[in-house]
Amino acid sequence: METKDIIIIGAGPVGLFTVFEAGLLGLNCILIDNLDKPGGQCAELYPEKPIYDIPGVPYQTAQEHVDALLKQIEPFSYELYLNQRVDSLNEIKDGDDSFWEVITTEDNKFVSKNIFIAAGAGSFEPRRPPNIDNPDQFINNGVSYAVRSVDQYIDKNVFIFGGGDSALDWTVELSKIVKSISLVHRRDAFRGAQHTEEIMRELVSKGKVNLLTPFLIDSIEGKDKVEGVKLKNFESNEIESHDADELIFLFGLNKKLGPLLDWELELNGKKISVNTENFQTNKKGIFAVGDINNYPGKMDLILSGFHETTLAVQEAYKRINPGERVPFGYTTSNSKLQEKLGVKK
Ligand SMILES: Cc1cc2nc3c(=O)[nH]c(=O)nc-3n(C[C@H](O)[C@H](O)[C@H](O)COP(=O)(O)OP(=O)(O)OC[C@H]3O[C@@H](n4cnc5c(N)ncnc54)[C@H](O)[C@@H]3O)c2cc1C
Repeated sequence: METKDIIIIGAGPVGLFTVFEAGLLGLNCILIDNLDKPGGQCAELYPEKPIYDIPGVPYQTAQEHVDALLKQIEPFSYELYLNQRVDSLNEIKDGDDSFWEVITTEDNKFVSKNIFIAAGAGSFEPRRPPNIDNPDQFINNGVSYAVRSVDQYIDKNVFIFGGGDSALDWTVELSKIVKSISLVHRRDAFRGAQHTEEIMRELVSKGKVNLLTPFLIDSIEGKDKVEGVKLKNFESNEIESHDADELIFLFGLNKKLGPLLDWELELNGKKISVNTENFQTNKKGIFAVGDINNYPGKMDLILSGFHETTLAVQEAYKRINPGERVPFGYTTSNSKLQEKLGVKK
């Protein structure tokens, strides 16, 4: 059975820093996130916002903070799996030993003695169009909730739904390669950057974008793949039919605790209870670090999560190397790390 030292559920700042602390002790990690990029809330919710309370860093935007964490873990051994949610967690007995197996929505399976739940406020899930029954039946066949590869849209009839930054950005970007593109929104006002809205409206005036407001989707046409779409005019209630190959719904994200609630972990409300000695849950080998956990005095701050995971990694080391002393050394005198980072003395 192939095992990893630590499996981390969630690649937010705390998940990323776990790779660093594990790396210092020579442990390897698997890092899994539901999003299409690492960074959790920082990257998804407020990349441009400044953060002022990272010790020793007077000012950093949230995205700069994520980039710095990614740089910091470059020397260490880890694999990153994105666009997949960890859906199940099962115990595997091997003689006297016990391991945990996680399975993702992409059917990847990983086994480890140590699971770190660094899931923040839960996995971010795209909002579905509310009035369509099971739009996911067309996933990969004309329905998507994010643009993963622009090539998919070359020479296609594309409809983008939404009124925020993503909808505006992708309308402008994809207009360069599609056969036709329509931006559908329930009102003629957008929440995204004014500058991008201006570019979009200029493309409309040049006939390169069809702006359809005030409309909402009525139904999707097609058997195995999307062939058309019916749109309902919000004011007149009239229905229009259009040929369509690709429908992209950009309605933002919901936070979902989802599968975590089924893992028989002790909860306090929607947070996982831990002890503050090693941030282990009521199950041995399952740790909860960062915003997802709860204990007396808990503060949902990045630096709290960094402290928590540093202690949890110590316990993870002990579980892999029973009876051994956890090596301790300041990073200032870690010659291996200096070598990997190319630090010149
Ligand atoms: C607007 C705003 C401003 C903030 N400003 C500050 C600040 O100035 N200073 C500060 O310290 N903190 C700030 N915070 C809080 C800070 O962002 C959080 O404390 C921090 O992001 C928590 O990190 P985390 O790694 O625990 O979780 P998150 O950043 O929430 O990351 C968790 C990740 O886990 C993934 N995930 C969850 N469940 C699963 C699953 N089952 N499978 C796969 N992936 C999963 C999620 O998709 C997500 O990417 C701010 C928060 C917001 C919203």
